[in-house]
Amino acid sequence: MSLADVRADIVSACKTAGRKEDSVMLVAVSKFQPADRVETLLKAGQRVFGENRVQEAEEKYPALREKYPDLQLHFIGHLQTNKARAAVALFDVIETVDRAELAQALRKEMDKQGRDLPCFIQVNTGEEPQKGGVAPHDLPALYQTCKDLKLKIAGLMCIPPAEDIPDLHFALLAKLAAELGLKQLSMGMSADFQTAIKYGATHVRVGTALFGTRQEAA
Ligand SMILES: *Cc1c(COP(=O)(O)O)cnc(C)c1O
Repeated sequence: MSLADVRADIVSACKTAGRKEDSVMLVAVSKFQPADRVETLLKAGQRVFGENRVQEAEEKYPALREKYPDLQLHFIGHLQTNKARAAVALFDVIETVDRAELAQALRKEMDKQGRDLPCFIQVNTGEEPQKGGVAPHDLPALYQTCKDLKLKIAGLMCIPPAEDIPDLHFALLAKLAAELGLKQLSMGMSADFQTAIKYGATHVRVGTALFGTRQEAA
């Protein structure tokens, strides 16, 4: 697929769902992709990107940002508190707030750096032990902590278990967001972004469908 194909699929999924064409933001997930491939998408007009490792993003993005100052970078991986400083300095949106300790570290760094980044809370909808994200029943307490810290929580994010049909996870995330009055939902990847749009995704995180298969380090 190409950028144009993915965008066309987003538009058609929006139409099918009776949603506005511009109600879904495409986050191009560029992890493991070299900077020149990212730049190909930048040249084609894509501006929003996602990375899951701070160090990799630090290696690729400062130079790209000099050329494309309106580029927006979303952090979508597990964030260690000792990387909060670097993440706040480089990224524009943190999608993976999943514990009070991290919320506190982000608040501290944002205050120090005079930045106030929008964040998402990552929810572990499948309650998988190896996966990041707050368990659904712990979400209200974490949301309250974030509110007390005056973190700007834009919405919720999830990564459904690979072996599940994603529909129930997307529906659950939408329900949890509605209960908290949160409007944005980051859900859906290459295999299921059209389904996610049906359930209300406002951000889809697409890697493979845009860039092809990743050369992942073992
Ligand atoms: C890698 C990744 C994606 C993109 O996955 P694809 O299947 O390549 O589209 C989306 N979200 C997160 C959190 C990821 O780590």
